[in-house]
Amino acid sequence: MKKLNLTNRIFIGLISGIILGIIMHNFTEIPFIKTYVIDFTFHFMGNIFIRSIRMLVIPLVIFSLILGASGIEDVSKLGRIGIKTLIFYLGTTAVAILISLFVGNLINPGLGVELSSIENTKITISQSKSFVQILLGMIPVNPIESMAKGEMLSIITFSIIIGVAISLLNDKIPVVKKIVSEINIINLKLVEMVMLLAPFGVFGLIAQTFATLGYAAIIPIFKYLLAVVIALLLHALITYQGLLVFVAKYNPLTFLKKFSPVMILGFSTSSSAACLPSSLKTMEEDFGVSTTVAAFTLPLGNTINMDGTAIMQGVATIFIAQVYGIDLTMGNYVTIILTATLASIGTAGVPGVGVIMLGMVLTEIGLPLEGIGLVMGIDRVVDMFRTAINVTGDAICTLVIAKTENNIIEPLENITSK
Ligand code: ASP
Repeated sequence: MKKLNLTNRIFIGLISGIILGIIMHNFTEIPFIKTYVIDFTFHFMGNIFIRSIRMLVIPLVIFSLILGASGIEDVSKLGRIGIKTLIFYLGTTAVAILISLFVGNLINPGLGVELSSIENTKITISQSKSFVQILLGMIPVNPIESMAKGEMLSIITFSIIIGVAISLLNDKIPVVKKIVSEINIINLKLVEMVMLLAPFGVFGLIAQTFATLGYAAIIPIFKYLLAVVIALLLHALITYQGLLVFVAKYNPLTFLKKFSPVMILGFSTSSSAACLPSSLKTMEEDFGVSTTVAAFTLPLGNTINMDGTAIMQGVATIFIAQVYGIDLTMGNYVTIILTATLASIGTAGVPGVGVIMLGMVLTEIGLPLEGIGLVMGIDRVVDMFRTAINVTGDAICTLVIAKTENNIIEPLENITSK
């Protein structure tokens, strides 16, 4: 076991979690298994890990952003990186939805599906914020409150402003600069320590999910699940791979080898926010991306860039329209692209929010909101796949921006192996 590296151990955790979870699913009637194995052991293992990793998100984002922004010699560079990143995130999300609409129309997941055959879950829709509210919310009235509530966009603004101030003060405050940089080193060490729990955490989370999953709910809408997964794969293989090869000039296999632990984390936790610490560490230490770029693109992407979620929303809209026998017009498709982009931006990086935000898209094109209940039953499974893509999209952007900003520092291992 000692010889296996962390990636392999996480992978083993995933596979054994799936196998044991499926086996345990057959024994949920036995009170001992249900109470002590599934609800206690699996739940405990998974949640110790999730809580520990979430504990690191806010301190890590704050200090790496302050460090990143303070290291920038010229403030206009920050603006340039910001604009490029926003264009990238919006562009890839729009492409993602286009792919989902294409696949949705090819597979027709809702055709021939009987409404009565689907488990309909009760839903509650939360009000989404307006664009102006989102923009204003980026400036925290009380930064400590924003940190306590985990409001990522305001935390990003606040940290960047501090970083810029440090950079403008330059040599006048060498001690603060050093402290920030050393706290960042401590934070990265903490991530490394918590990640040692990852194989057990992934095992517990996946085993619990598979043990409690109702497979019966999947059967009537299997085509929907299939369509989402195919669209996610196409987006990864065409859009992401294309960007990696042609823009970032990076070998996709090397990318996969280094980044797969984060993707597995996304898959097993269904929370891109929980992946942020290890994503930051991986991009900086294994890919050699500078803190200036990674500390900006990753937390921002974590909050606003959810290609996987947008894909699910595209396919789900087609599915729901077909089940209710409603024909979508060309105008509806344009509306789906626009609103699903906004809905995915508004989705928080925690499990199950994307499907609630689907309400925004359905309302906009006049489909019944109850439609959400139709896809809710299997959303736990869909969420795993889409979250893995959500975190991958942020990493691809980070590499592309770093490459175009000449910000990739060759990782040590590559230099020594040359
Ligand atoms: N679970 C997703 C994520 O964390 C969000 C969603 O529900 O689509 O990225």
